[in-house]
Amino acid sequence: MDESLKPSAVSPAVLSASPPSVLVVEDEPKIAALLCDYLVAAGFVTSHVDHGTGLVQALQKGEYNPDVILLDVMLPGKDGLSICREVRDFSTVPIIMLTARVEEIDRLLGLELGADDYVCKPFSPREVVARVKAVVRRAAAKQSGHESVAAIPISLDAQRFTATVNRKSLDLTPVEFRLLNTLAGQPGRVFSRDQLMDVLYADHRVVSDRTVDSHVKNVRRKLVQAGGDETWLRSIYGVGYKLEW
Ligand code: CA
Repeated sequence: MDESLKPSAVSPAVLSASPPSVLVVEDEPKIAALLCDYLVAAGFVTSHVDHGTGLVQALQKGEYNPDVILLDVMLPGKDGLSICREVRDFSTVPIIMLTARVEEIDRLLGLELGADDYVCKPFSPREVVARVKAVVRRAAAKQSGHESVAAIPISLDAQRFTATVNRKSLDLTPVEFRLLNTLAGQPGRVFSRDQLMDVLYADHRVVSDRTVDSHVKNVRRKLVQAGGDETWLRSIYGVGYKLEW
């Protein structure tokens, strides 16, 4: 389902406030211009910075006060990884990392930078706009206190290994429960297959990537059977999975 067609997910705070602002930190002028064009067309206000030097300080001083940061990994001056880590010391502003290679995302996920999402170049600007909208929505929900488990249609009981969607219980295997529990613990975060395998098989038994894929498929089917939406559990091509609604 198109992100913009989810009325219940749009917070009134977002609708009534001034347009959300996006800080685009990207040294390639064409990419930066493309992103800014699409974001402005989608109703965002944008600022652009083409290097990493002094950015952390500028954010700390409030010279920039964005609602979302799109942060390229490879930047002149300070790199995106250091910037993300340093910003996390004082701010929870949503950060979406832009990276040149899909293989790099797995490594970035492992670094636990505190980024909210990752987008791989070359990307579709529409996809980036959809991701920006998703993090803005989540941030607004968090601010208004609606991000609690109660607002999430999935409820998990780790003691009994049971899960329900809209009060309908899902008949999950222990592995499927762990998978759903992990993804639902951090809505919107992308987990790589390796990370999920570590959670699913604590004994580090050797299983193939496809094993994770088939568990995901089963969990998605069970979510849908219980009245959930199949778009909740999304596959991020070449990277892994995330759960969001
Ligand atoms: Ca770059």
